[in-house]
Amino acid sequence: MKEKEPMQLDVNSIRQDFPILDQSIHRERPLIYLDNAASSQRPLAVLQSMVDCYEKTYANVHRGIHWLSEQSTEQYEHARQVVGQMIGARHQAEVIFTSGTTAGINLVAHAWGNGHLREGDKILLTILEHHSNIVPWQQLAERTGAIVEFVGLNEQGRVDLETYQDLLDERTRMVAISAVSNVLGNVVPVAEMVGLARSVGAQVLIDAAQHVPHEPTNIIEWDADFVVFSGHKMLGPTGVGVLWGREELLEAMPPFLGGGSMISQVTVEGFTPGELPAKFEAGTPPIVEAIGLGVAAEYLQQIGLAEISRYERELTALAHRELSTIDGLKLLGPAEPDQSGIVSFVVDGLSNQDISIFLDRQGVAVRAGHHCAMPLHEYLGIPNSCRASFYLYNTEQEVRRFVDAVRQVIEKLR
Ligand code: PLP
Repeated sequence: MKEKEPMQLDVNSIRQDFPILDQSIHRERPLIYLDNAASSQRPLAVLQSMVDCYEKTYANVHRGIHWLSEQSTEQYEHARQVVGQMIGARHQAEVIFTSGTTAGINLVAHAWGNGHLREGDKILLTILEHHSNIVPWQQLAERTGAIVEFVGLNEQGRVDLETYQDLLDERTRMVAISAVSNVLGNVVPVAEMVGLARSVGAQVLIDAAQHVPHEPTNIIEWDADFVVFSGHKMLGPTGVGVLWGREELLEAMPPFLGGGSMISQVTVEGFTPGELPAKFEAGTPPIVEAIGLGVAAEYLQQIGLAEISRYERELTALAHRELSTIDGLKLLGPAEPDQSGIVSFVVDGLSNQDISIFLDRQGVAVRAGHHCAMPLHEYLGIPNSCRASFYLYNTEQEVRRFVDAVRQVIEKLR
């Protein structure tokens, strides 16, 4: 089959699905949204599916024996199926709706971690982790006496696999790593790291918050034990995310939250947990949000994650090339080609907040700060950085405008 030409995504037609992007701000500057790593925008199909549900088919799921409840339940379970298929899950029971990545990691840190870690056991993370994949483990360590250790980066700015192997030992019970750094955009060699963790019998959790939205994801190839991600970063609504877990592990774990839906029986003496996935979905779930997430997953798959990834990497490489010509600007992270949709940088003598405020005045939305990765910034010897993050609806022209605006801000503020 003939290889597609680069930059072939039909971005103009994609953009028509995102009316929020079609506006001018601050005295008629076209809005350029480059804060996608924090949260993406949603296409009309997702918004409409949610309105349709509230207008026509909404009721609480699972327990109602009436038409509306059956409709909602069917749509909610269909969403589970679509999202599960998207990541290659073999069993629907392994796909648990959560409120997001943070909730998924906390669930595992409690329901799996409390029963599996003892004093002196090790939890191994990389220095790239988002606070969501650090703090729950630190809390677990406080509860159990376990130790949290971090793998640093090598000279190329990638996770140092030699240190990783040195730190892995038979005391390592959990390895928790992000598949893509939310600051540097590094694509981490997940399958290789999982294989090494297996050799010492450690369990592995993958924080795929920046992977599932942008790269083809196959959990079977990763061979991890838990995978977590958020809906709002992948064209879906806020308030919903996914925890995928290996069935036998989920079966063996006690429930995390107690309440309605997660039980098979309750008596005055106690309760019996329900079957998967209900066992980990206590209370009324984010019904309409999950339905919207299912539509977002269908939308992404229709366009194709491989195509989206290739397009975003081209935008990222362009931003890299152009920014690297600017005097005094330092790009963080390894150079392409393993850069997924994220470019972070600092500028000698300028505050990242000032840069981002100036860019906003030009209509360009980027993020300045520690991006919930304080340990990484400390490791890099900087307090914070500026981050531009791309998605399927961004254009080459937007990247060039962003780079021009960075040039202008540096001239103006220096
Ligand atoms: N992990 C990574 C790599 C992220 O980028 C984020 C969000 O920025 C999170 C975890 C937390 O996601 P949420 O706030 O949706 O729970």
